[in-house]
Formats: sequence, structure tokens, C-alpha cells
Amino acid sequence: MKLKTSIVDIIKADGKNLKILLDVSDFHPAGGGQPGDSGTIFADTFQGQIIDTIKDQRGKLHLTRVKNGTPVQGLEVEIEVDGQRHQLLTKMHSAQHLISRVLENNHNGMFTTKANIDENESTIYFKYDGDFNWDMIFTTEDRVNAVINENRKVTSSLLSPEEAREMEGLTAKWDRLPENDTIQVINVEDFDITACSGTHVHSTGEIPNLIIINFKGSSPDWEIKFCLLREEFQTSHSRIIRQFSKNIDCPPEKLERTYIKLQQDNKRQRKIIEKLRHLIEIPWEITEIGQSYMYFAVLPGFTKDLVMSAAKKQLINNPEAIVFILMPSEDTLPTGFLLLQGEKTNVDLKKLIQVSELKAHGGGDGKMLSGITGCNSINTWKGTLLKYI
Ligand SMILES: [Zn+2]
Repeated sequence: MKLKTSIVDIIKADGKNLKILLDVSDFHPAGGGQPGDSGTIFADTFQGQIIDTIKDQRGKLHLTRVKNGTPVQGLEVEIEVDGQRHQLLTKMHSAQHLISRVLENNHNGMFTTKANIDENESTIYFKYDGDFNWDMIFTTEDRVNAVINENRKVTSSLLSPEEAREMEGLTAKWDRLPENDTIQVINVEDFDITACSGTHVHSTGEIPNLIIINFKGSSPDWEIKFCLLREEFQTSHSRIIRQFSKNIDCPPEKLERTYIKLQQDNKRQRKIIEKLRHLIEIPWEITEIGQSYMYFAVLPGFTKDLVMSAAKKQLINNPEAIVFILMPSEDTLPTGFLLLQGEKTNVDLKKLIQVSELKAHGGGDGKMLSGITGCNSINTWKGTLLKYI
């Protein structure tokens, strides 16, 4: 709905944005975790986008991005709130009241510290000394959706600070309330009474059924994320699960157990490999170079970690030698290589692998280089290494 008003003052904000003070405005300012209203402002000589509304001692300031023209003091303008966004924020904010109430009722000592209300996904921050888990989330979600479906009346009243303080069962952040101003009190029929400056639905039935997406934190600081698109969220997740479950041939209820088992298997196998790699004997091909030797090996399917120990052992016994291992992959991965030199050898390995026909990329230090190569021929490597050294 459009509203006629006029510009009282213009304050420069960042960049192209201005803070505009209006004679009258139906824009709701940010507060209590709910962002300020957005919308449009226009006159014949000026058009702008109001991206946020905040309140300070001067009144409501409309953070405006100028699109055309220049606003001036005294200019008659029309403003219009983005009603769809306002509605969404109102529902989200009202939902937050319900979630906080259920959590605080069900868990002794739990209390909401702040909220971050957003059109798509909102966050509630709270303190709780105990552990938080999915069972608590599911119970909360069910209870909140039940309250939504009961379509309880939501009413608001304005009280003086004294009246508010005397009100039984009122939840309020007293330190954040204005001392001399009236206080808006929101009453969800037989369920919750909270002092709050945000915007609210008239009955809980206006809020769509919600879903808590995730929680994180550790005692005592927790946060939960929720959205109001329960059905869409469930549909997309159920599609992912069904597909995944079919692809790996594991029913959804067994996914977690199977995953944990695989993790344990993986850990066990790593331990076995760790023990085995010290026992690996590499079938070296040996070439004499002057007073020393070069050791070559081609080990398809092996990895650097597996052969490193054996390669180093070879150099401890022959500190003047050079070791080269080519590890062609057995699947689609590129071929790996490992190049080492002993304590008494001093070849510039980095320069060596820059020879273009080796098509090698890698890193390491002066004594050890590893990486991948586009050259799978051990003879090309052997020829280049011997030529260079
Ligand atoms: Zn509220």
C-alpha cells in the first residue's frame, strides 16, 4: 500500500546510499533480530530503493539507494513497503517466539540470547548447560508445529514499563527495553507472553509448518537454524536420500551405521598398511653411474606413502645413489613419481623435472621430489635422468 509523505531530512550514508527521515512512515524498523522493512520511495523527480529501516533518537531512518534524480528536503514522496518480505519476516519472527518458548519450557535453564531473522533461513542463539541433540530438535519441531496448527490467537498490547514489570509470566530482556517508552507485549493465547518490538502474525495458523534444519555449538552456547518451507525441504532431502540409498544399495535407516562401520574399516586398513609399508621390498632395476648407482622401479597402483619408507631405506645404505619410482595409476588418476637422492649426492632435482618431455609437476625439497607426470615411459625417465646426471 502506497503512503504519501515528505522528506524531513537527508543524512549521507555509505557510498550511493542515503538515510532519509520522513514525515510519516509505515516502514517497520529493525529490532530484536528482525531486519527493517524494505520497499520503494518515489516522486516525479526522484526514485529510490529503501533497503533497510532503522530507528534512532531522530526517528525512523530509511536507508535508501538512489536510482534516479536527487531527493531534497521538503519533497513530497510516496513510499511503499515490500509487503511480501514484510509478511515473511513477520511469520519468521513469530515462529521464533514459538520455538524459543517450547525450548525454554522443555529444558530447564535454557534461554534465548538473540535471534537473526531472515526471509529464508533464521537462526536462534541460546544458552544451555546440557547437551543438545536431534531428539530434542524433533520434539521441539513437533510441538511448535502443533501450536501453529492449533491456530492460537496472537495479540499485542502497549504497556508502561511499570505495568510490564508487574505482569506475571512476561519474558523480557529488561536491560534492552526502553525505560520511559511504552512496551509492546505479545501474547500467544495460553502459551507465551513476551515483550517485543517486532511484527507478529494475528494467529499462529498464519505461520507455515516449520522445520529445524540444523543445530550447532557446544555447551553452553548453541544455535539452531530453521525455515518455513517444511514441505519443500523434506521433498528435496528425501530425493537426495532415496537416490543415494539406491546407488549404494543401503536402506536409509542403515546409512549411519554403515558409514560408521566403513570409517572403522578404513582406520583398521590404514593401520595395517602402516605396518606393511616397512616390510615392502622393491624390485629395483639398478644402473651404475660412475662410482654410484641409480635405482629404478615401476610400481603400478602404488602411492608415495606406501613406497617412501623402502625408498629412503635404499638411500641410507647407498648415500651416493639416486632413487626413482614411477607409479602408474590403475584407474583414472594421473601417474605419480618419486625422486630421491642420498646424503652424498647433490643434483638439482627441481631443475631436472622441468625437462619438458617428462611433463612433470611436483614439489619437495633438495633431497626429495614427488608429483605427477604425463610421461608413463620409464625409459624416457631413465634416459633423461642419466643424461642430466
Ligand atoms: Zn516478537
